[in-house]
Amino acid sequence: MQIEYQLKPLEQRRTEPFIPESNVGFGLLRTDHMFLMDYRDGQWQDPRIVPYGPFEIFPGNMTLHYGQSIFEGAKAFLHDDGEIYTFRIDQNAARLNRSAEIVCIPEIDPKWQLAGIRALIDVDRLWFPQQQGACLYIRPFIFATEDKLSVSPSKSYTFCVMLSPSGAYYGDSFDKTIRLLITKKYHRAVSGGTGESKAAGNYAASLRAGKAAAEHGAAQVLYLDSTNTQIEEVGAMNHFHVRKDGTVVIPTFTDTILKSITSRSILDLGDILGLNVVQETVMLDQFIADIEAGEIIEAGGFGTAAVVSPVGSYIFEDGRIVTVGDGEVGQYTKRMYKVLTDIQQGKLAGPDGWMTKVERHETISK
Ligand SMILES: *Cc1c(COP(=O)(O)O)cnc(C)c1O
Repeated sequence: MQIEYQLKPLEQRRTEPFIPESNVGFGLLRTDHMFLMDYRDGQWQDPRIVPYGPFEIFPGNMTLHYGQSIFEGAKAFLHDDGEIYTFRIDQNAARLNRSAEIVCIPEIDPKWQLAGIRALIDVDRLWFPQQQGACLYIRPFIFATEDKLSVSPSKSYTFCVMLSPSGAYYGDSFDKTIRLLITKKYHRAVSGGTGESKAAGNYAASLRAGKAAAEHGAAQVLYLDSTNTQIEEVGAMNHFHVRKDGTVVIPTFTDTILKSITSRSILDLGDILGLNVVQETVMLDQFIADIEAGEIIEAGGFGTAAVVSPVGSYIFEDGRIVTVGDGEVGQYTKRMYKVLTDIQQGKLAGPDGWMTKVERHETISK
């Protein structure tokens, strides 16, 4: 099997470096091409790069009705040597397969996922926005394509990778905290459900809670377990807090928490960060009491998009507000953000194998 290239004619694609005048935002832009692969007759086949454009699907497409669809999110960075490097992309490939298993989608050999992602970045490398803190956001996803009205696993699927040239999430300064709504009314996941996967339906299910958060003046929701006693995670980020001795605590991964690669990285970087990073079950009542007693001094979220999102306060559905420390971004949170983004941007050497160079194959002239 070989990747086939059906590229746009040269005059219709970017041929000069992309030098935007202002921050290009997150997830808004697209590049010239996308990578596709299809599953039919019991196997993944036909890997190809084609112009970015609409899909043709039937009204009976099973994804539209039953939501059999999963996705990933990763980033690639431009280093000072002029080359583009992906960050821990092998972890995303493994997690896509874990999500696939959870919603009965056939797995894709990580070798093919990575080959597709790299070939696509290579072809569209001129789309990398030449601005401070920018990245190419990588969105691989798989969706059912069978035209059938019945709740059963589809017999055919499409795997697609698209790229979004994105700007620095925080602009120049990393100094804003957000407020989270602690909800006892809405839940993201239950044990035995699909919480551990990036299944599309999980995000549709979170919209109503997101609306409630906005109504409370909060940016996002902090979800509890179904008994409303343990802290789980934020809608698209894991949660963390920092105790006054500098210990970073991330809730233990269960099948109701998405295993964040950002969290995993902070756990792996403990030594480089000079911080003790642990995973524990976090009880809500104790968490709030410890904030009020000054035992917990910082908190936030971990996820690919923002990397680290500092939380300044929590609000409950009854309007009660709990402020963490002085409500500002703390020193430990800043350190984690700096070390992780420095590794991503090639300013600091990270553990072996985290950054992978996207090789050049001269496909641009094909
Ligand atoms: C994607 C996601 C995260 C963050 O995972 P990263 O690998 O760090 O991007 C956390 N929670 C949920 C529910 C997610 O969908």
